[in-house]
Amino acid sequence: MKNIAIIGAGLLGRLLAWRLNEHYQSDCHITLVDQFGRDHFGTGLVAAAMVAPYTEAVGTEAITQEIGERSMDLWNDWLPGLQTVTGHHIAFQQNGTLVVSHPQDDPVWRRFQIKAQALVPPDKMQLLDQQALADAEPQLAGFLKALYFAREGAISNLDLYAALADYFNQAVNIDWIENTPVNEFSTNGRIEGFDNSFDVVFDCRGNGAKADLKGFRSVRGEVARVHAPEVDIKHCVRLMHPRFPLYIAPRANHEYIIGATQIESDDDSPVTVRSGLELLSALYSLHQGFGEAHIIELLSALRPTFMSNQPRIEINNKLLRINGLYRHGYLFAPALVSDVIAHLDGEQAAVHFPQFIFSSESEQHDSGQHQQRKANA
Ligand SMILES: Cc1cc2nc3c(=O)[nH]c(=O)nc-3n(C[C@H](O)[C@H](O)[C@H](O)COP(=O)(O)OP(=O)(O)OC[C@H]3O[C@@H](n4cnc5c(N)ncnc54)[C@H](O)[C@@H]3O)c2cc1C
Repeated sequence: MKNIAIIGAGLLGRLLAWRLNEHYQSDCHITLVDQFGRDHFGTGLVAAAMVAPYTEAVGTEAITQEIGERSMDLWNDWLPGLQTVTGHHIAFQQNGTLVVSHPQDDPVWRRFQIKAQALVPPDKMQLLDQQALADAEPQLAGFLKALYFAREGAISNLDLYAALADYFNQAVNIDWIENTPVNEFSTNGRIEGFDNSFDVVFDCRGNGAKADLKGFRSVRGEVARVHAPEVDIKHCVRLMHPRFPLYIAPRANHEYIIGATQIESDDDSPVTVRSGLELLSALYSLHQGFGEAHIIELLSALRPTFMSNQPRIEINNKLLRINGLYRHGYLFAPALVSDVIAHLDGEQAAVHFPQFIFSSESEQHDSGQHQQRKANA
């Protein structure tokens, strides 16, 4: 039986615990530890939770698309089982993303289009004229055109976390230890404060691991959650704007997540007036029905990020550190979790993620000092 510890019950820690338990079943015991209680509203709940392999690849790296496509498939494989076991419905809007701009911002939209054409296969994106856009999303009929990425969507993270909470309550092999900060652990399976030794220790502390990781930073993000009875938009929408780019991720019952600021900062204090004004005025320009929307909450959180903006899986003996999910927790975590499980099983051929780092010295956390290799090479 594998005795597994997961430090950090954020998005990644929860997904790992769930998938490891599904994979090994009674052959494993999982200890999930977090510094906060299980109701803490962390980064994964602040997120818009879009799964957007193509529109996100445009702003980041080509590999985003590859990892994101795999995650999209995995979400579709995994969520039905979780719904069955827990009885929770997990809304997963998969109507795609529309990218629009106001006429005066057309150069920004065109720049996005050029980058997208260079990265995204032609069958994954489509140019909609005004009529096609009006047919697809009648309330955006005022825009002249859109780029449409059909295979993108957004998960209701509130639904997902609620379902996982029930799953963990039912799972006899998972112990969830709350309100327990852990910062001392070694590569040989020992964690300070725990008597037993673990076969595998996952460090999933997100921003909490900052002191141990070179080249790591936090990127502040702020979102608004609104209830807009006059708005009925079914797609994720990205508004191209030179200063205030905006996305909306629809939830059930006319709720929308509006995001997001992206600020190089460690400040996790509440949303500023300036950010709130920028987000909400850009939103109002998208559709005037948002003028009568009710602001349910304004939320901020820090995205755990490496300098490369890419995630990293670092393996040192029994310690696996997974971090740097940046703005791609929902987009990347399923693929990374699946690769890590394949790695534990010794099935290297099933590992796709190229940024596995195998290190021999626990002190080394600079990617330049590591032996980096393609995991499936
Ligand atoms: C505004 C915003 C919008 C976003 N939108 C999207 C999106 O649309 N799509 C997408 O894919 N991603 C999005 N993200 C990114 C996503 O939320 C993150 O990538 C993801 O939550 C990171 O998961 P994580 O588990 O690595 O870190 P976290 O979710 O931050 O979890 C880390 C956990 O570790 C715990 N911890 C920390 N230190 C310790 C310690 N010493 N001991 C014990 N426990 C500890 C914390 O309490 C926390 O529970 C967004 C993020 C933000 C902020």
